[in-house]
Amino acid sequence: MKALVYHGPGLRSWEEKPDPVIQDPTDIVVRIDSSTICGTDLHILKGDVPAVQPGTVLGHEAVGTVVEIGDAVTTLATGDRVLVSCITSCGRCQSCKDGRYGLCTGGGGWIFGHLIDGLQAEYARVPFADTSVYKIPDELSDEQVLFLADILPTAYEVGVLNGEVGPGDTIAIVGAGPIGLAAIMTAKLYTPGRIIAIDLSDSRLEKAHEFGADETINSGREDAKARVLELTGGFGADVAGEAVGIPETFELCTEIVRPGGHVANVGVHGHSVTLHLETLWIRGLTITTGLVDTFTTPRLLKLVAEGRLDATAFVTHRFSLDDTMAAYDTFAAAAETEALKVVLEASPVSEKREAREAELVGSSA
Ligand SMILES: [Zn+2]
Ligand SMILES: [Zn+2]
Repeated sequence: MKALVYHGPGLRSWEEKPDPVIQDPTDIVVRIDSSTICGTDLHILKGDVPAVQPGTVLGHEAVGTVVEIGDAVTTLATGDRVLVSCITSCGRCQSCKDGRYGLCTGGGGWIFGHLIDGLQAEYARVPFADTSVYKIPDELSDEQVLFLADILPTAYEVGVLNGEVGPGDTIAIVGAGPIGLAAIMTAKLYTPGRIIAIDLSDSRLEKAHEFGADETINSGREDAKARVLELTGGFGADVAGEAVGIPETFELCTEIVRPGGHVANVGVHGHSVTLHLETLWIRGLTITTGLVDTFTTPRLLKLVAEGRLDATAFVTHRFSLDDTMAAYDTFAAAAETEALKVVLEASPVSEKREAREAELVGSSA
């Protein structure tokens, strides 16, 4: 098969890899139908995530079709269409029993494109399949559900739910990239009073308006702290969501939140950040951090199926899976290309692949 392989900082290639096979009885193998690229993949390519070994296939978000199932898998069959999420759950450890799948200590958590081969590939091995993938209703397209693999549950759980967004609240989202926009989209489920989006890019702020932001602030031209205070009568935002992952934006969140308010960090940080306890100790803030657990994925699927969430709004570019290298170039140059999410679409199944799948179906029957 072909796959996007990481070869160390700055190095990636689309190359031939051995077809994945069942290793444990709880595994399945899926044919990837649609995949996408995450900001985290760019962090990996910068060398920010040293746990990723050279030779690893990248990618942790996909929609696929089950082509092979392990002997212990009971709830899935070949031919099922499934959402393969960024988080895998062993289903047995204490964290999984608590619904904290992102903290799984039994071999799950964020493993795709990190600790094992990922999903920017023609095929992928999916461990702990029964407790980790989500069957997709026939009437939903790949693009309607693809972003439930990461950005939507991440922004919803780590931003909106951790931030305890409530009706009438003023929400400030710092960073209007895919995660910030997903936070705006899912914050709206709670009828906030006002959503303020802050970014350096006018095109992203325009998107933020489309996604439901009421006010936008270009922090390159305006003093964001002064503007937020002006918009909130000097009080500050009830919830500040950090969706960038750099020291300046985290510190900004602590400055624009009201006394007793909530800073929800969603960004992936590669550098240490100063926590100004000399000013914050008296302000009664709650600061939360975390990786997504994906316990809300079934709820988000229901909202998509009921037409309450339009997850396709993130798509700005489409590439064939074979053009994953070009898709990375476009995604990495977001300032010029205005890319939010790029969809990698597998070409129609070739005869060779059909023959191989027929063989696999035959051998697992
Ligand atoms: Zn991701
Ligand atoms: Zn677990």
